[in-house]
Amino acid sequence: MPLDFLKRRGDGDKTPDPKSQSAIPAGMPEEVVAQDFQLKLYYAGKSSEGVRFRAGVQAIDDLPKLLGGIARNEVEVVEPLPMEFAQAVPQIVRPSEAMQWLNAHHQLSPVTRHALLVLESIDAVDLAFDTFACTLLDGETDTSGYPEYSAVVGGVAAHWDEATGDLIVRAVVGWGGRGVRGDTDRIGQRLLSAILSNVLASKGALGFAGVERPVPSAGRGGLVCAHCGFASGHERAFYCPKCGMRLLRG
Ligand SMILES: [Zn+2]
Repeated sequence: MPLDFLKRRGDGDKTPDPKSQSAIPAGMPEEVVAQDFQLKLYYAGKSSEGVRFRAGVQAIDDLPKLLGGIARNEVEVVEPLPMEFAQAVPQIVRPSEAMQWLNAHHQLSPVTRHALLVLESIDAVDLAFDTFACTLLDGETDTSGYPEYSAVVGGVAAHWDEATGDLIVRAVVGWGGRGVRGDTDRIGQRLLSAILSNVLASKGALGFAGVERPVPSAGRGGLVCAHCGFASGHERAFYCPKCGMRLLRG
């Protein structure tokens, strides 16, 4: 059954007016011409096995030294986030989580913020328990100081072993953004090896730790460190994520 409105412009008028050719046709075409839009974001990273360091505060102060000869920029140390930032997530469509994340990290350098965006998005770093020493490792930044998609960022992440109170240090690298380059994975692997050999060769390293990373619960946390006042979001923690001293349970 023919649709009347499709014929509204008159069957008798076979010669189209050249002036009206650019006009929008009145009817629904058989096939909709779609204009496609797409953004492919690619985040990737690598993490090494953990290396055990004897319990003590010195090791965590020395984290930036583990990137000696490798860092292409100043090394910035990001400490575990206290309780008030327990919901911080770098996802702009979740305003409360995004605000926490920005409030926690707005003062960091563009390189470190980019590294946290990438490494937190892929769960390679978790600031509920990690202390993260971060720098530019390979590639370029733009004029505002933000790493290009092929730049490799990262360094070492450390947490206190819940069983022994030793510090567990691992190499962590990441990259990504609006694009991907074929050789970045290989460069990332090379940098991970270089950092790990620095870690293993450093004073106080006792060898591979053989422990899994802790899994922070989604609970309310709330243990406050009697030594440094840090309120941990990691409710199963025995050791303060910030200073490594034993948490006292009330
Ligand atoms: Zn503490």
